[in-house]
Amino acid sequence: MAYQAFNDDELGFTTKQLHAGYDPAEHHMAKAVPIYQDAAFELGDFDRGIRLFSFAEEGDSYSRYSNPTNRVLEKRMASLEGGGEAVSMASGMAAIANIFLNLAVSGDEIVVPGTLYGGTITLLKKIFPQYGIKGVFVPDADDISAYEAAITDKTRGVFIESLGNPNSNVADIEKIAEAAHRHGVPLIVDNTFATPYLLRPFEYGADIVCYSATKYLGGHGTLIAGICVERGGFDWLNGRFPQLEDFYNEKIEFIPEAGLRKYLFSKRLKMTYLCDLGAYMSPTTAFYVLQGIETLSLRMERHVQNAQRIAEFLASHPAVSEVSYPGLPGSPYYEAAKRYFPKGPGAIISFRLKGGFEAAKYLIENVRLFDFMVNVGDAKSLIVHAATSTHYGQPIEVQEAAGVFEDTVRISVGIEDVEDLIKDLDQALRN
Ligand code: PLP
Repeated sequence: MAYQAFNDDELGFTTKQLHAGYDPAEHHMAKAVPIYQDAAFELGDFDRGIRLFSFAEEGDSYSRYSNPTNRVLEKRMASLEGGGEAVSMASGMAAIANIFLNLAVSGDEIVVPGTLYGGTITLLKKIFPQYGIKGVFVPDADDISAYEAAITDKTRGVFIESLGNPNSNVADIEKIAEAAHRHGVPLIVDNTFATPYLLRPFEYGADIVCYSATKYLGGHGTLIAGICVERGGFDWLNGRFPQLEDFYNEKIEFIPEAGLRKYLFSKRLKMTYLCDLGAYMSPTTAFYVLQGIETLSLRMERHVQNAQRIAEFLASHPAVSEVSYPGLPGSPYYEAAKRYFPKGPGAIISFRLKGGFEAAKYLIENVRLFDFMVNVGDAKSLIVHAATSTHYGQPIEVQEAAGVFEDTVRISVGIEDVEDLIKDLDQALRN
């Protein structure tokens, strides 16, 4: 029997991260996924051109919205997520912005907690309101009834992060999904900090999952990329989404009903927003994301192991006043983390320093191993002062709602020898 591992849903996660979605027989038997560095593709015969442009046939015509390298990545991600349809995008922000555009039109609202990545907050507080789309911020990210109370006739979705940025607060995805579904709106989960290895939000009722693939999926700080994955099956024709309904009515002539209806969100995202706004991932980037994904589970195991050790070290350090990491028994998210993150609640730790802003500055200026940069999810360990970088420019009350204070430092724990990381933090923490 010939090689079949590209198409076997029974395989384990680590096997799938190496094999899913790529059949060498379709690519001249190349074992590495080829980079199709091509702006446009031969349409073939005249009728095929028509089929491609009406989307009746799946294929590639132009790399602003489709490319064979990206399609391997999209299939691999859908497989790792436990099914569905994926769309690769130019960045995590491109994924989030295009998801909002696809969900909502002028007059609509998206319900969110305040504990989000700063860029997403800016989209919903400053950019989208200019076009009539409003972010409705729930006062308490942990209060499920607050999400439900915020949903009105104008709501088109609830958007959360599975592990919040920067404090790794754990969202009760199942309860939030139930609340959203009671009102006919989808739950979208930014699963960047968790990755599908640590958590698959579809298993708890999420409808769409998105990533900054810049982080753990790429894994080495060498690219900017984003991905959106749709579980399939949310009823987009329930009356809340006239723009999706119009799209359905236009395309039903060409695309089989089952696939169109099941993945209506992804199809419209691709055929409308990628086609005309063009924030697709480059095929070279898709290749590098695929390379990163090949070792995802192995890296994540080491990331969470190191993070747990470092969180424990920080929690007992006299210079530290507070540590936010859901793997610590004192964390308000400890029980939730045990349920949602049996393999470990990620590797982003934020902590506050007794010495205030000056102590945070001193620490960042004196670490020798941690890199001072705004990224997370690199194999290498990184450190940042959130108030003057990722959350810079947000009003103080917005920063504080996100758990960012002037004495807060965030680290993204890498896969180095943990003893070296602890030694480095210890020598730079001013007592
Ligand atoms: N979502 C989260 C949770 C993030 O931390 C980030 C970036 O830091 C983004 C989205 C945006 O991703 P990108 O930088 O790839 O645009």
